[in-house]
Amino acid sequence: MVVDKLRSLAPIDYRPADLVDVGGGYQLRSEAARAMTEMLAEAAAAGLVISVESAFRPYDHQQRLFANAVARFGEDGAEQRSARPGFSEHQTGLAADLGGGGCHIESCFATTAEGQWVAANAHRFGFLVRYPDGSQGITGYKFEPWHVRYVGVELATELHDTGVATLEDFFGLPAAPEYAG
Ligand SMILES: [Zn+2]
Repeated sequence: MVVDKLRSLAPIDYRPADLVDVGGGYQLRSEAARAMTEMLAEAAAAGLVISVESAFRPYDHQQRLFANAVARFGEDGAEQRSARPGFSEHQTGLAADLGGGGCHIESCFATTAEGQWVAANAHRFGFLVRYPDGSQGITGYKFEPWHVRYVGVELATELHDTGVATLEDFFGLPAAPEYAG
């Protein structure tokens, strides 16, 4: 499942049936949750405390987030910061936002030991840093070192080993810098 600004959830209010807790009151689909638990345990064993700071977000939650962003930043500013409802990867139940090292869902995560560990190791657990630096023209999002998407170990490792940065590139999908309308 690839969700971006050209590929919404289908149905638009899709909600996975197998959500399970990953701590902090957040949920992911069961396979992704298991992988996340393993990843955070291995990081902890390396002395790094990484926490899940957002995960599954239902359609109506994204509606509220987006409406708040529009109220604060205007239509264009909101689209730079927040996905439209029905277009958020968080609605898949396969994406999570991570924090640690004193940095929480901010670009500084890339400079922390925790963020660097995620960048180097997430693929071993099936996760991809979904919005890499320099790929906004393809993914539609600025660098988000904290946002990971579960794709399974096989695909995540292949992406890592071949240096293909985005799912759009890997699957030959059109770049999705903007919504269609
Ligand atoms: Zn996110």
